[in-house]
Amino acid sequence: MNHLHLRPAVALCLLAGACSTPEVAPRADLVVTNARVITGAGTVLENASVVVSDGRVREVSPAAVATQADVVMDLSGTGYTVLPGLIDTHVHLIPSGGIDSDEALARYVEERLPGRLESFLASGTTTIYDAGDFWPTLSDIRARIAAGKLRGPRLFAVGLILTAPGGHPASTICRTNPYCQKARMVQLDTPALARETVDKLARDGVNGIKVVHEAAGITMSREVLDAVVAQARVHGIPVDSHNETVASSIEAVEAGVTRLVHPPRFGRVEGTKFVDLVVDRGVRIAATVGSGGPGNAKYTPEMAALFEVLKANVQAIRGRNVLLSFGTDNAGGDPAERVWMEVQALQDIGLSPEQILATMTRDSAIYLGRDKDLGTIAEGKLADLLIVAGNPLEELSALKNVRVVVKDGAVLVDKR
Ligand SMILES: [Zn+2]
Repeated sequence: MNHLHLRPAVALCLLAGACSTPEVAPRADLVVTNARVITGAGTVLENASVVVSDGRVREVSPAAVATQADVVMDLSGTGYTVLPGLIDTHVHLIPSGGIDSDEALARYVEERLPGRLESFLASGTTTIYDAGDFWPTLSDIRARIAAGKLRGPRLFAVGLILTAPGGHPASTICRTNPYCQKARMVQLDTPALARETVDKLARDGVNGIKVVHEAAGITMSREVLDAVVAQARVHGIPVDSHNETVASSIEAVEAGVTRLVHPPRFGRVEGTKFVDLVVDRGVRIAATVGSGGPGNAKYTPEMAALFEVLKANVQAIRGRNVLLSFGTDNAGGDPAERVWMEVQALQDIGLSPEQILATMTRDSAIYLGRDKDLGTIAEGKLADLLIVAGNPLEELSALKNVRVVVKDGAVLVDKR
C-alpha cells in the first residue's frame, strides 16, 4: 500500500471502514512558494504559492501551503516573478528559405526543428499558433509535441495557407520556390476548390482556416472568400484573415471572418467604419506590430512613417476594447528577440506593462478560444508557468531574464 502514499491515519480508518476526508492535501508534483505571482487575471500576489498536480494548477494560495511535492521551488529572496506561460498567436514554425524539396523539409525537421522548438521554450513561450506552414508535416509535429515525444511549446496550427492565384505568399516569400508554393498553400481559383480544400483541412484537424484575403496588391475574389467562410462555418472552425489595407480589412470582416492576423497597416482606420464593424462583429486582432516598430534593429525613417499609421490604427482599435492578442509573426527569428521586439512596439503604442502582460497571456488565450485551459494561473487551468528574474510590472525587460519554464506541469527550462 506504500505506493498509494496513504498516511497511517488514513490506512487505519480504511481498515476500520470509517474514513473521513483527509485534512492534509495529497502530494503534489510541483509547488512554487514565497513567490510574486502575476495571475494574469488582474491580480498580483506576494509571498504566494502555486500548487501543481497532474499537469494542472491545483491551488493558488496567497500564503504558504503545507502540501508536500516532488519539486519545491522556494523563491524567497530571489526577486523572481511567476506569470502564465507566454502565448504567441502568430508564428511560422518552419522558415521557407532553403526548403525546396521533401528531402530538404525532412532534413530541417530532423536536424533544426528541435533546436527551434527549444528556443521558443527558452523565450518563455509555452503555446504557439502556427499561421500557415508546410502541411501535413506540421500536423505530425503537432502530434509529436502533444504526445510528449518532442519537446516544444503547445502547438495549434492552421495548416495550409489559402490564397488567390499568385497571391501572398506564392508571389512573395515563395516567389522563386515552386516547392514552397505547393507545400505551404493552396491557390484558390474557384469557390468549389475553396470548399474542397476547407473540407480536407477540417478532416486533417486544423485549429483554424487561414486565408490571405488581400496582400501585396492581390485580393481574393469575394465569392471565393465567401465560400471559405461558409465552409469553415459548416465545420465550426474559425477563419483567420490576412489583410493589409483598411478597405480589404472591412470587406473581410463583412464577409464574416473570425480574426484578423494583422491590424490594417495601409491607410488610417479613423473616419472609416472599420472599428465600429470590428466591435459589432466581435472580431479579434493579432497585434503583430514588432517587426515594423522601433525595437527592430533595422528601423528606418520610412519604417517609422509606416509605424505611425499602424500605431494610430492600433490605438483606435484599443480605444474601443477590441481584443488584441500577442503575435510576433516569427518566421525564423530568435523567439526571445522577437518577443522583446513586440513588447517594445506595444510599449511605444502606449500599452501599460499590465496591459502588455495581459495581451501576452490571458488575451491571447481568449483570442485562440482556449481561455478555459490557458492564459492565467488559476485553479484547474493547465500549469504553464514562466518564472523571470525581476518584476516585469516595474520593468518589462525582466521578461528577458527567463529562469524557469513549466508546461503542462513539467519543468522544461530551469536556469535558477
Ligand atoms: Zn504570418
